[in-house]
Amino acid sequence: MNKFVILFLVLCMDFHTQAQRTLILAKTLIDGTGKVISDPAVLIDSGRIISIGRRGPVSKGTQLINLGERTLLPGLIDVHVHPDNGDDDYQVAHLRSSSAYKALMALKNVQDLLQAGWTALRVAGDQDVAYANMDLRKAIDGGLFTGPHIYGAAHYISVTGGGGDINFISPEQQVIADGLIANGPDEMRKAVRNEIKYGSNWIKILETGAFMTTGDNPQNVHFSPEELKAVVEEASRRDVPVMAHAHATEGIKQAVKAGVRSIEHGSYMDEEAIDLMIQYGTWLIPTLTIDLWFQEKWSDSKALSKAIELAKNSRKQVYDMLRLGIRKGLKVGVGTDYVGWPAEYSAREFEELVKVGMTPMQAIMAGTKVNAELLRKDNEIGTIEPGKLADIIAVDKDPLKDISELQRVTFVMIGGKVVKKTGLSDSPQSK
Ligand SMILES: [Zn+2]
Repeated sequence: MNKFVILFLVLCMDFHTQAQRTLILAKTLIDGTGKVISDPAVLIDSGRIISIGRRGPVSKGTQLINLGERTLLPGLIDVHVHPDNGDDDYQVAHLRSSSAYKALMALKNVQDLLQAGWTALRVAGDQDVAYANMDLRKAIDGGLFTGPHIYGAAHYISVTGGGGDINFISPEQQVIADGLIANGPDEMRKAVRNEIKYGSNWIKILETGAFMTTGDNPQNVHFSPEELKAVVEEASRRDVPVMAHAHATEGIKQAVKAGVRSIEHGSYMDEEAIDLMIQYGTWLIPTLTIDLWFQEKWSDSKALSKAIELAKNSRKQVYDMLRLGIRKGLKVGVGTDYVGWPAEYSAREFEELVKVGMTPMQAIMAGTKVNAELLRKDNEIGTIEPGKLADIIAVDKDPLKDISELQRVTFVMIGGKVVKKTGLSDSPQSK
């Protein structure tokens, strides 16, 4: 190869790498680690963050995005969502809708969530006989559609008569329940193996009764210790973590001791349960937004009357114990229990966490860094640092002054790709 050919190749390579570079300028950066940086310049190459520096000359071929007075944050992470849902009477909706319809609805829902700033989601199981959310993830990861990163479980595993069973039909009727029904350690093992076989990278169990389901009681523990042990053992063998829906105090304690990674809801936890979670390093995902949504938007729903009543009666205890947990240093993540509401509403979870004692910075970290650690993806997402995926959002005003600003996300980038840029025209590459 002569030297002119080599020079030509080097020039082409240089052009190629530089053309993929993007530089974002803004007024402030909240990086997810607790730091606030003024006048940041975030350099992105091939979908990843290369450096965070001060403003300087922009190198040739770099795409410049100047966000002016806006504040940059890591993409938000919701670790408790149900994208296949969109109805107050979700068990009836489950029986009416095919898995294909649910997948299409879920695609719309997760794309809306991405537009609202949520760049990663953990599905907490969904009402679906097939694997709609796993196919949704496959389609997004395969590049068929743009959407957030999706992790989680296809189904919630429930015992007969539990929160994942349909308890309002006559015994003669044959339907497939919204949850994956399993009883006894052997069936639990099989359910876990099936979930993993078809794509779940989390196992979700309904350890106790639920608020929304007909015919069960959230104060009851549903899994036997043997069933719980079988689930965690089988999932751990495959290095898949378990999330446990648990309202009843005793259910929370049993699940924590069995080795689940996160407790979902935790409504009736007492101080001993808090101490156990701290001792075992278990995350709590309190899912406060869903009760607000039901009370504000579905107060007349017959299907939700049980859930609304239970939420009303337990609200003071939930908030008091959560306040205590936060004070004691419990790991609390952001999970909304999203069930198809307008996507911006999900950021209400941050406001509620501030009400129970988090600072706005702590709440932001709960929905970014802390959640990424729960997902075991903190080497990829959750903070704006060199080497991480360029999942970056912006808001117009300072969310540390008013946390509700997170309901008004005006810029979204995922993996270096801009998917929302309110109030910005296409900026040319620097010459
Ligand atoms: Zn849920």
